[in-house]
Amino acid sequence: MNNAIKSVVIVGGGTAGWMAAASLQSHYANTDITFTVVDSSQIGTIGVGEATIPTIRRFYRNLGLSDREVMQATQATAKLGIQFNDWHSRGSSFIHPFGLYGQELRGIGFHHFWLKMRQNGLQSRLADYSLGASLALNEKFVPPSANPPSSLSVFDWALHLDASRFAAYLKKYALERGCKHVDDVITDVRRRPEDGFITAVRLEGGSDLEGDLFIDCSGFRGLLIEETLGTGYEDWSHWLRCDSAYAVQTENQREPRPYTQVTALESGWQWKIPLRHRTGNGHVFSGRYTDDQRALDLLLSRLEGEPITEPRKLSFVPGRRKQAWNKNCISLGLSAGFLEPLESTSIALIETGIERIKQLFPTQGFSQACIDEFNQVTAEEYERVRDFIILHYKATARRDTEFWRDCAAAEIPTTLEKKIALFKDRGYFLKYRWEMFHPASWLAIYEGFDILPETYDPGVDAFEEGYIANSLAAMQKSLNGAVAAAPSHQNFLDELYDNN
Ligand code: FAD
Repeated sequence: MNNAIKSVVIVGGGTAGWMAAASLQSHYANTDITFTVVDSSQIGTIGVGEATIPTIRRFYRNLGLSDREVMQATQATAKLGIQFNDWHSRGSSFIHPFGLYGQELRGIGFHHFWLKMRQNGLQSRLADYSLGASLALNEKFVPPSANPPSSLSVFDWALHLDASRFAAYLKKYALERGCKHVDDVITDVRRRPEDGFITAVRLEGGSDLEGDLFIDCSGFRGLLIEETLGTGYEDWSHWLRCDSAYAVQTENQREPRPYTQVTALESGWQWKIPLRHRTGNGHVFSGRYTDDQRALDLLLSRLEGEPITEPRKLSFVPGRRKQAWNKNCISLGLSAGFLEPLESTSIALIETGIERIKQLFPTQGFSQACIDEFNQVTAEEYERVRDFIILHYKATARRDTEFWRDCAAAEIPTTLEKKIALFKDRGYFLKYRWEMFHPASWLAIYEGFDILPETYDPGVDAFEEGYIANSLAAMQKSLNGAVAAAPSHQNFLDELYDNN
């Protein structure tokens, strides 16, 4: 028996296609498996997708690439978190930093101490005990120390990057390591009559490109997974109302901030992603509550710099493919599903998808157990991210437009309901499998929306109040010292880009 996979065809050369090609080509370097990317310069890529979360750095480090190399290749800036403006209510602002808050004491989470002191009139916010948040809000940046002196200084960072340059950089990487590339339009897909497995894609040039395994990175259309295999899509638009976006780039007007800004608008929200050479802007909105012209006008009226591109409209359906892996086709990126970019999760979902392909790769032929596991984990992972995003809408105190009133009144998945209830009740973090966001991230959003337990862990009462107050003050002092000593984000970038 020789069912071994020898030839893998990756359909699509956007961020997903080239991330998969670079990672898989590098991983299977010393095997006889071949990888071929087929895409079409006539069709192009989606071209957005510029804000990431810290997992991106692990992804490219596994390829042997450094922060410096990737940043220089993609005109990247550092990202310490996301600032949410006008989400809780108009005029409100909070930050979701990548990292921990404060220090645990005798196994009791920091937030319980903070909750007690807050009930006693303490004014400070959680961000005051996060080095990542404090650096961000002061527009400073220094990479975290490899051996942090205390858990106070534990934070992480990600990148704002130019998505097209990132794909081009990974393309070069993959091709240098032996990946093949075909630039042609796929006009047809051939299947085995007995089981419907895909055998080849037919190219406009007339030839067939054969493969054993096909990775569908063809974007929203899902050329193989949906148009060919009819896998089906689980639509989440009853939970997530936004279905459209306008994207436009502007020239920089100021030094780039080391964080993404997302601002709630009347029927959606606006993103600002500062790169070194320009800023990415967009308005994600619900076509059920506003119209295209109004959405575009609102975005254009709020830009900080002059547009340097024509605005582009993008439409989407929030949800996920019913089976990410169907027969001999695995979907990745937009063909696998879509969740609005509020927490910058799409590229991260591509990363975890690639890791899973490696873990369950059909080296000895296809196994239904591996396919089922892949699908189960992918489904759960998307659902966990979905719940996190829904929380941002459900928790709003805004009632100024029909959109926000409906978001606040909407039913939510029971998985999320349970999470919120346990946090409100006991300050407890219910953790499911395959969560992309850790408790500190949930805490950032809960606090930002004023969802806080009325109680705290009674174990905190074993500590003298004066001791807690002094500890909190000492934490703030130590953070302020670290922030004062850090260079500005701009200085960090100047040093990084001057040394190329
Ligand atoms: P695409 O970029 O659409 O690539 C599809 C590829 O398929 C292309 O190469 C095309 O040539 C090829 N193709 C299609 N049909 C054919 C054919 N018939 N023949 C040959 N080739 C074909 N993600 C983040 O992580 N952070 C963000 O901040 C973020 N912001 C976003 C904002 C918006 C409004 C949207 C819509 C998405 C955003 N994303 C973000 C998601 C991110 O853009 C995508 O996950 C990422 O770009 C991956 O896209 P892709 O490679 O799956 O598809």
